[in-house]
Amino acid sequence: MKTKLHFLLLVLPCIAIAQLKSPSEFLGYELGTQFTRHHQVVDYYEYLAQAEPQRMNLMEYGKTNERRSLLLATISSKSNMDNLEQIRLEHLKGMKGEGAPNKAIVWLSYNVHGNESVSTEASMQTIYDLLTVKSDYLEDIVVLIDPCINPDGRDRYVNWYNQYKNSPFQVDPNSKEHHEGWWSGRSNHYMFDLNRDWAWLTQVESQQRLVQFNKWLPHVHVDFHEQGVDNPYYFAPAAEPFHEVVTNFQREFQRTIGKNHAKYFDENGWFYFTKEVFDLLYPSYGDTYPTYNGGVGMTYEQGGSGQAGLGIVTAIGDTLTLRDRILHHHTTGLSTVEVASKNITRLNDEFKNFYADKGYTYKSYILNGNPDKIEALSNLLDKHDIKYNAGVNTTVKGYNYKTAKTGSFKSSGNSLVIPSNQPKSTLVKVLFEPIAKLSDSVTYDITAWSLPYAYGLDAIASETTVNGVGVVQDNTDYSAIAPNSYAYLADWNSMKDAKFLAELLREKIRVRFAHKPFTLDGNAYERGTLIITKSDNKNVKDFNVILKKAAVTHKKKITATNTGFVESGKDFGSSYVDVIQNLNIAVLSGNPTSTLRFGEIWNFFEQQLNYPVSNLDESYFHKVDLSKYDILILPDGRGYNSFLNKHIKQKIKDWVKAGGKLIAMAGAIDGLSSDKDYAIKEKETKKDSTINLESFEVSEREQIKSAITGAIFKATVDNTNPLAYGYSDTYFTLKLGDRSYNYLENGSAVYLSEGANEPVSGFAGSEAKKKIAETLVYGTQRMGKGQVIYMIDNPLFRGFWENGKLFFANALFMVH
Ligand SMILES: [Zn+2]
Repeated sequence: MKTKLHFLLLVLPCIAIAQLKSPSEFLGYELGTQFTRHHQVVDYYEYLAQAEPQRMNLMEYGKTNERRSLLLATISSKSNMDNLEQIRLEHLKGMKGEGAPNKAIVWLSYNVHGNESVSTEASMQTIYDLLTVKSDYLEDIVVLIDPCINPDGRDRYVNWYNQYKNSPFQVDPNSKEHHEGWWSGRSNHYMFDLNRDWAWLTQVESQQRLVQFNKWLPHVHVDFHEQGVDNPYYFAPAAEPFHEVVTNFQREFQRTIGKNHAKYFDENGWFYFTKEVFDLLYPSYGDTYPTYNGGVGMTYEQGGSGQAGLGIVTAIGDTLTLRDRILHHHTTGLSTVEVASKNITRLNDEFKNFYADKGYTYKSYILNGNPDKIEALSNLLDKHDIKYNAGVNTTVKGYNYKTAKTGSFKSSGNSLVIPSNQPKSTLVKVLFEPIAKLSDSVTYDITAWSLPYAYGLDAIASETTVNGVGVVQDNTDYSAIAPNSYAYLADWNSMKDAKFLAELLREKIRVRFAHKPFTLDGNAYERGTLIITKSDNKNVKDFNVILKKAAVTHKKKITATNTGFVESGKDFGSSYVDVIQNLNIAVLSGNPTSTLRFGEIWNFFEQQLNYPVSNLDESYFHKVDLSKYDILILPDGRGYNSFLNKHIKQKIKDWVKAGGKLIAMAGAIDGLSSDKDYAIKEKETKKDSTINLESFEVSEREQIKSAITGAIFKATVDNTNPLAYGYSDTYFTLKLGDRSYNYLENGSAVYLSEGANEPVSGFAGSEAKKKIAETLVYGTQRMGKGQVIYMIDNPLFRGFWENGKLFFANALFMVH
């Protein structure tokens, strides 16, 4: 069968093309009349790849958490496909200003948000048309199509919709099929927003996709989305603010593409808008990330999303159908390829220009600090193809991140040096520069993310080139642990240490930790040091083997000692040395919580810490016997006022007083703070009482006075509080809003000291700054036999604020 088709293609290409089945023919229903399940989408792409072996290849570049296939289709003319690898390499030579590439690379990404479900449907019609009626576009273009970035989320939506839909579908917005509920399909399995993850790569989908993306670095990248049902279509050019690295060409080409789309939309009388809402700043989007890698990255937004179903009546009484939605995304997809096909030389020239030396102010970024954190950052840089070296013994000068002033420190072979002069220099600038310049403070997302702060490393941005050599070497033999020692000691100051501890606990190893610093055998040990004794584990079979395995797996240096008699501090048998119990941990999910904030915690346990957690849904929470759990986590969310009724409040409080440990985050604190038993109290701030006589039009500008759109502040740390073991005396916290609570008596582990309400990076409005002055960031309170831990800022935000994660681990293991 395959051979025969092959033969036909060679001899009679027109007939073969005419025989290619459209999505409707293949699926057995008119595209747009049903939602297509992911396995059927896979089937259709596989069918196309088999039918068109000379003009298409299809790869499975990975699997999702729920084991669905992640696909990448590559299509072009037969002669291009015959030389595909050569085309790719010639294109990449452009990064060095070399080569004579004469093809353009266009990458179309669909359905990153699962319930924006039109995208994948549109992708099938788009690839079909590119292989048939629009195949002339492929003469000088390689088109890469990812039909579904987020198959788990999309199938969650599609399966849900198929279960709840009326037959025929009901356009009345009140019908159940338009109300997806809390566990919606937008995000991936762990409720992560994959369109916030391109730069941080915390999720398996992003990690696997980026490997392919970096092989191609397309000239043009489109991320297909949907917005609310009443919105007209949005396409490029994007809105301000643009990051300053966005080139004039990138701006201009967005316009060129937008104009071409407008031509088709005008012809058909379709509504659209441009230059509003969707800006180009935060680097972790499907439009900005490709832009910072030399492409023209764009977001297209159709009206629809999870609410729309197969058809829905809009606010002005029109009916929006899935067919309409497909038509629009299909039109812009083809129009994008069309524009690229007419600008091959320009796209190639400008790609080279992008990668030419830009002469950025900072020539090198030098980082010092905990080796675990250096390693964690190096791992991220590897994924982005960002080059780095180990430092040399010298003094480096420049902008000091910690003091936000010019300063210096000594670098060594354990330092990380990241040169600006490398192909990925623009991405380096975006990710490392201490302060991102804002052309406008009204933005869609956070305004600060500088990696040295996120990873808790000291850093200098130098205006002169600082040389490095090789990479940081680690020659430690982690398996060299003397067996049958009295005890084993391991330090505690990074997320890696927490993973190591979690593994020991999973293996039923009993671990103690020190509440006071001590010295032993001439070495100094800090608070939080893990103490694993032989006698605690005398009944554990293979104790030495388990310990060695954990040390090697986590590259954890373990020091053996033959005595528990310390030189200074408290002996191992002291009451200042606590035992870490194997813990039963539960986290609340459902309506009171935000899906994203819940998902960050769920993902933290299963994919980072590797420690079990129970997800307790709010719908049956009242029936759950909390005494089974040592720890209950209430994630941030907006629904606590209705969830925390008298009964539930009492239930939680009784459990804490009996010895439970409650971790309340952001919105959950708002729900608890009015109760007098909780020590945390909202800070009273006098509102600016001057009457606003500004015009209606400037009111949006006025509002941002009260906004903090994700900015970094320097907080003070009391590292004698168990919540802050392993930290230094300062911590850079990412604030996402102006939530403000007073310090806690004896329990303020992390807080903004006087004068610390000015961000070191990012935007904060004048009113917001007043409000957050001298407020708590993280704190602890004893209640009865139990503990309450308050987290006002989010240490797990999008999984990328690496240096916050130890606070969370401390909350679980160190606070007793
Ligand atoms: Zn979206």
